[in-house]
Amino acid sequence: MKCPYCDAEMIPGFLNCGNTIWSERKHRISTLPGGKEKYALYLEVPMLSPHHIESHCCPKCKKIIIDAFDYDNNLD
Ligand SMILES: [Zn+2]
Repeated sequence: MKCPYCDAEMIPGFLNCGNTIWSERKHRISTLPGGKEKYALYLEVPMLSPHHIESHCCPKCKKIIIDAFDYDNNLD
């Protein structure tokens, strides 16, 4: 996969993470989505090992691209 920003070949790998949420707002304590906030890539605290999110990292400009389609969100 080519980086859409600088056209370098991206490195496939995994974002290894714990509880996670992409949100339009900052969460101070909990990562639980609430109210009317728009969120994506919501993952609860993992049970055994970290979550493994397939993604690509650019070795040149260091951007990481994640396809969050299959993860919990309320964007629709
Ligand atoms: Zn790049």
